[in-house]
Amino acid sequence: MTSVPTPEPWPLSHLGVDVGGTNIKAIVLTEIDGTPTVTNRTECRTLGETAEEILAQIAEIALGLAGETTGVGGLGFSLPGAIDRKAGTAGVMPNLPGSWHDLPVRSIVEDLVGLPTSVVNDARAFTLAESRLGAARGLGTVVGVTLGTGFGGGVAINGHLHEGASGFAGEIGHQILAIGGERCGCGNLGCAETFVRTQTLLEATGLPSVHAIFTQAAQGDPVAAAAVNSYIAHLAVALANVHTLLCPDAFVIGGGIAAAGAQLFDPLLRQIRALITFDHPESVHLRPAELGSIAGAIGAGLLAMDGVEPRIA
Ligand SMILES: [Zn+2]
Repeated sequence: MTSVPTPEPWPLSHLGVDVGGTNIKAIVLTEIDGTPTVTNRTECRTLGETAEEILAQIAEIALGLAGETTGVGGLGFSLPGAIDRKAGTAGVMPNLPGSWHDLPVRSIVEDLVGLPTSVVNDARAFTLAESRLGAARGLGTVVGVTLGTGFGGGVAINGHLHEGASGFAGEIGHQILAIGGERCGCGNLGCAETFVRTQTLLEATGLPSVHAIFTQAAQGDPVAAAAVNSYIAHLAVALANVHTLLCPDAFVIGGGIAAAGAQLFDPLLRQIRALITFDHPESVHLRPAELGSIAGAIGAGLLAMDGVEPRIA
């Protein structure tokens, strides 16, 4: 009896595109020896001035990468704002130009690209990527935290996003810390993000950048130090609340402000632990993100990989 050789399977790849206010990052994710691996990547400026132009740019970048790749199974893309994952529609996008509310973003991009497409919030994409392939791989319950312009987040359990009944779970930056507080970009008053965002640091100090604020704070400037202390104190309360609810194995912290390193992580961990009453304080763990600026694109690609029936191009 002769054995028939099994044909070499096509490499199955998925595309991930992460849209930010300044740049769009895109990657090709190919499963190699069972591990999703970035096999191609590109980055460019966000050029569109309307929602439709930005969605067309996403499609153009995806088609460019697909043209260089054999066997693309699908596309995932992330946007920096509210996404109704079930409906495939967008909500408020504070950091992108154009009118996004109720726009069927998933079907618009899917029609342009001709591939099965999924859409996700950018911080959720970050969380998925870090929980499966990055700083929290192998852990059970993971909370992703992105600290940049705003305060994003997400929850992953055993390497999959926990999105809740409606699909919106994980907006940890929009828990309310101050009743009747300052107006947040989401419309509510006193959200954690009104304290934990770049704009609040810049306004409190008059300094030109977050880097300058953390540097001046480290050198003992009292105004900069007070702004940094307030940022960390509010972030600690927000994460202590999340810990009380979820007792995660770890928080994975990324975004531009995480670059402050020990100046952020050491007091933050100390303060969260001081706020924990119904768990052992040493159960709180913070990990710096590992996947860098393409984490969101990787997460969007992973979502496409999970949700799309593989097919050969
Ligand atoms: Zn809010």
